[in-house]
Amino acid sequence: MAKTPLMDQYRKIKENYPDALLFFRLGDFYEMFFDDAVTASKELELTLTGRNAGMDERAPMCGVPYHAAETYIYRLIQKGYRVAICEQMEDPKKAKGLVKREVIKVITPGTILFENSIADKSNNYLVYIVEHEKKLGCVMADISTGECWWGLWDAKKEADDFFDMLSIYSPAEAVCAVSDDWYSRIEPYCAARLGACLLTRRDAEELAGAPVPAEAADVADEAVRRAFAGLAAYLREVMKADVPMIHMAAPLREDHTLTLAEDCLRNLEITKNMRDGGRKGTLLEVLDHTNTAMGARLLKRWLERPLTDVNAIVLRQDAVEELTLHATELEKLERLLSRIFDFERILSRIEANTTSPKDLLALKASLGVVPQIKDLLSGARSLLLTRLNQQMGLHGEVYDLLDRAMDENGTGNVRDGKYIRSGYNAELDELRSLTENSRKWIADLEEKEKEKTGIKMKIGFNNVFGYYFEISHANKLPIPAYFTRKQTLANAERYITPELKEFEVKALSAKEKTEELELRIYQEVKNTIRPAIADMQKTARALAAADCLASLARAALKDRYVRPAITRDGRIAIRDGRHPMVEHALKREMFVPNDTLLDHDGQEILIITGPNMAGKSTYMRQVAVLTIMAQTGSFIPAKSASFTPVDRVFTRVGATDDISTGQSTFMVEMQEVSQILRNATKNSLILLDEIGRGTSTYDGMSIARAVVEYIDSKIHAYTLFATHYHELADMEAASPHIKNYTVTVKERGKDITFLRRIVPGSADRSYGIHVARLAGLPEPLLKRSEEILRTLEEKDGVPKAAPQQAPAAGGGGDLFAAPILAELADLDVMSKTPIEAMEILFRLSQEAKESR
Ligand code: ATP
Repeated sequence: MAKTPLMDQYRKIKENYPDALLFFRLGDFYEMFFDDAVTASKELELTLTGRNAGMDERAPMCGVPYHAAETYIYRLIQKGYRVAICEQMEDPKKAKGLVKREVIKVITPGTILFENSIADKSNNYLVYIVEHEKKLGCVMADISTGECWWGLWDAKKEADDFFDMLSIYSPAEAVCAVSDDWYSRIEPYCAARLGACLLTRRDAEELAGAPVPAEAADVADEAVRRAFAGLAAYLREVMKADVPMIHMAAPLREDHTLTLAEDCLRNLEITKNMRDGGRKGTLLEVLDHTNTAMGARLLKRWLERPLTDVNAIVLRQDAVEELTLHATELEKLERLLSRIFDFERILSRIEANTTSPKDLLALKASLGVVPQIKDLLSGARSLLLTRLNQQMGLHGEVYDLLDRAMDENGTGNVRDGKYIRSGYNAELDELRSLTENSRKWIADLEEKEKEKTGIKMKIGFNNVFGYYFEISHANKLPIPAYFTRKQTLANAERYITPELKEFEVKALSAKEKTEELELRIYQEVKNTIRPAIADMQKTARALAAADCLASLARAALKDRYVRPAITRDGRIAIRDGRHPMVEHALKREMFVPNDTLLDHDGQEILIITGPNMAGKSTYMRQVAVLTIMAQTGSFIPAKSASFTPVDRVFTRVGATDDISTGQSTFMVEMQEVSQILRNATKNSLILLDEIGRGTSTYDGMSIARAVVEYIDSKIHAYTLFATHYHELADMEAASPHIKNYTVTVKERGKDITFLRRIVPGSADRSYGIHVARLAGLPEPLLKRSEEILRTLEEKDGVPKAAPQQAPAAGGGGDLFAAPILAELADLDVMSKTPIEAMEILFRLSQEAKESR
């Protein structure tokens, strides 16, 4: 095929990178040829041209200018490609024959480090998975921040958990050293669930005995050790640099973290919303008042993996409380944090040598703020803030070096030069003054020689002879010996002096040399900084944690959250709890707070009946969301609360159709229920919303009842069970652990009003037709459905009845006045602020009006 030496060179290089698009540097362009060119031109909308490469047919070709390459590479990476960068390894001007070229790195979705290429508020993961002796070892790494987490799964028994973990972290890239069998499971899963996750296969056996990085020295499991070794090898392979890139390793599956499955995170909208998986409307959005990207990333991780250890939670709470109590200091901390750049990622770019001078300035600016933050935190009393302060280094040497070396008013990028500060390097200063001041220097020299010799002369320059003194033939004075004749003209002689010659040599190469020297100094600065990267990343992590705590404190102040008690008494008790996101979403209406009590006594399983739209789902989610908030160390929207940490939260809510795997809604629902029943413990929190809805009434009801019985007799988990099947209300009588609750509604003629109050008791009507009326179905249709309902009820012998609710305190016959009276009786007026009192009065009056 290719005949020219250049194309030969291209083909030889391309052979080693069959699965990457090869960006082949030719002068000021990266060129792509053949299939790569066809693909890239399509994906990047570039014009495809041909190059007559000495072949019968012209080779398809397209290219991008090298200085704009990052954007193009980034777009290809996003589309799931990997890009191999092939550079010219010598100066074409100096090369003899064909310029030497080499691939200097391969850019992949999991290793991309360009600024702005990855979302700054979430981590960008590369996962390495190794299968070894029926175990799956995996290292989930974020190269851009230098962190990684590892874990081990039983390939058979814990496959669900393993896939769940993949979904939660949704890595951008996965390298699998697993059997064909496991690969055939991972591949479709990634395709269906993880979007553009790029998969690569490697051989697990090749990793046997491979060196393990220092971070993994203590890890005992062979599968995980191999994953670490594999990751290190893969990074060397694609980044072509022998730098560690990872400076922190921690276990993924810690005993003291609350396991939240991916569907649970989504159903409860903790970090991703149900609509499009974005941040909008999530708990993360409500709580995120962080001021650094590092803090935003950490807060997301905190919410995805809350704590279960009482002491660890209290530690965070103490810090949050201290910050809420010192508003001035909190504000100061926030202001300082807002001046910190994402230097965790800058450090990784320095390590991989892909930074710009601008990055170093940003690092300097960030480090400059750290002493002030440390100073502020030195006044803190809570253990966690004190500890974080200790973990933050001052990095004075790095700061000083950057301050001396990097020019704040420089261009900020290598291509344009002028980013090293003057005064840092004498040689550079001289070179610069040569170029910048050469005219003045020449005038000075001319003046000096004139004065010294008395001869009239002027300095000139031409391209052939360079610099010269020109002295007219009219001159009668003796020419000093150090003037060497260069050229004779009709009316003048031209001379050179050693001093002028020296200037000439310097001046001519000054520009080139300035660029070279500046680049060398820049590399030296980076080399000097490099050994401090791991320590600076530690500082970055401590700053991120301080930012998260400040964010939780800010959320607490803003939305009037309270600190819940964290206990070991086996109870979850919430007074006047509110759903943080629904509360935010309600514009004009007031959110109606509700109480919750869950324990292992009479309140283990709460069966919640009530009409559609009444607020059952909101209430159940509220309990789970508040639990997660409490276990994150956050304050919560409630009047008061106490939580015994749960080990897992399970949700079976809403119908998540799994179209991609071709399973029916009901099948998916049953699989989820089965997973919950297999994994839940006494310390778990289970939310079950309308299970059994996807099948016939009797099937559904039977399954629902049996599930409740099973939890009641075998698991004893804290359970909230919302159901349409009013018949299940009779289970309360059958077990001492089950309690019925219902959501109050007010019925007036055909109208119903939702009061949103959860009270003991059960509803025996669903008001489905009322909701249909609210939704605007045609009146004749509604009339007809009322008729049908009546016949059905008569046939079944079920009389139409009002909801049966437990008589509340006060006992006055009016069903709807009862909860109001009960609340008034309980109310401790003197403990309320005027605003709180107004709010309560407003709500009660609203409820009273509605129930009239
Ligand atoms: P369905 O059975 O049809 O799923 P549901 O009983 O589960 O209905 P939710 O979806 O929880 O009802 O609530 C419906 C709407 O009512 C919510 O979107 C919210 O706007 C509002 N709502 C729920 N709870 C409250 C509350 N405590 N205070 C104010 N508004 C609420």
